Amino acid sequence: MTNLVYLDNNATTKVDEKVLEAMLPYFKEEYANPSSMYDFAKNPHNVLNVARKQVQELLGAESEREIVFTSCGSESANTAIKGTLANNKTKRHIITTAVEHPCVLNVYKHFEKQGYKVDYLGVNSNGELDLEELKEKVTEETALVSVMWANNETGIIFPVEKIAEIVKEKNPETVVYVDAVQVAGKINIDVKNTKIDMLGVSGHKFHAPKGVGALYVKSGTIVSPLIIGGHQERGKRAGTENVPYIVGIGKAAELAKEYLSYEANEIKRLRDKLEAGILKHVFNSRLNTSITNRVPNTTNIGFQYIEGELILLHLSDIGICASSGSACTSGSLEPSHVLRAMGVPFTSLHGSIRFSLSRYTTEQEIDYVIEKLPPIIEKLTNISPYQEELAALKNLK
Ligand code: PLP
Repeated sequence: MTNLVYLDNNATTKVDEKVLEAMLPYFKEEYANPSSMYDFAKNPHNVLNVARKQVQELLGAESEREIVFTSCGSESANTAIKGTLANNKTKRHIITTAVEHPCVLNVYKHFEKQGYKVDYLGVNSNGELDLEELKEKVTEETALVSVMWANNETGIIFPVEKIAEIVKEKNPETVVYVDAVQVAGKINIDVKNTKIDMLGVSGHKFHAPKGVGALYVKSGTIVSPLIIGGHQERGKRAGTENVPYIVGIGKAAELAKEYLSYEANEIKRLRDKLEAGILKHVFNSRLNTSITNRVPNTTNIGFQYIEGELILLHLSDIGICASSGSACTSGSLEPSHVLRAMGVPFTSLHGSIRFSLSRYTTEQEIDYVIEKLPPIIEKLTNISPYQEELAALKNLK
């Protein structure tokens, strides 16, 4: 197989070697149940606290007691949302955005069927929210506001600190949940200095394995557990702790913090180079957002009048992995709900590709994509049924 150029890091990332090394003893020698009383269980018990501290530091939480380990970002979101609403049966109003991940949107669909009123805030063509609209919508009845920190498809960052302040000013009792899955390890998080009550992350987006996540629960915030059973995780998530994976997310969090400035500088430089290279060499390409306030590793580019799936298949043939839409929706041929909410014109809605980089991305890989992508697009453009429109577009350039 051709060398792999993996540019789908918002879908998942490669496990860091150091993370794997840290995990291995907990599969092999150190397999005790961390809740057991004997000495053999001491180390597995202690490493849970080490990992909690490492995640606390990545998120800038006040105390490691505010970190609850979960199985994934989806579980963190489900716990925050269902666990909040379970405690507040009288208030039945929720506010979220139209561009959230399905692990949030589909939970709200479920609550709508049960009679909750959910307001979905729209975005403008750059993917930005209208904070005035948010302000108007928060009322005495609002139980929960949940907004993602960065969008998985476009990388656009929402001003969640500001959003939490607006919400609390209008109703201090409204709980604010932030899906931070796409920002952990990409930008600095200092949750203790915000009014955010809960925040979810997922290990496999920052070089830990799939199957482990975390939920920050600000001390004093009441959240019912999704999984009821033993009293692990201070009663917030029952089930024997997945020690090797928790050690993994802890180590990954420590490394992610160390790599933050690399992310902000080097990964951003490579992302910008990729973006500029494609826009320069492909006449029918357009950026799906022009705002600079994006996570440093993500770009989303529309290729007008051609099918995204065809582009992905051709890229796959030469070893390049990218995606159209999010990994969770790419099984369907429905255009992305995020790009639709932004009003991306139909001409590029079906031909939009997300490239997402990581610390393993090299300059040679970016040069390879800049060299190999334009002829693929040219070939697909030549067989597009929209030749008149394409000719007009070319003349405009
Ligand atoms: N939230 C966002 C923004 C995501 O991008 C994802 C995964 O793609 C999730 C939540 C769900 O995370 P997980 O796959 O760990 O359940």
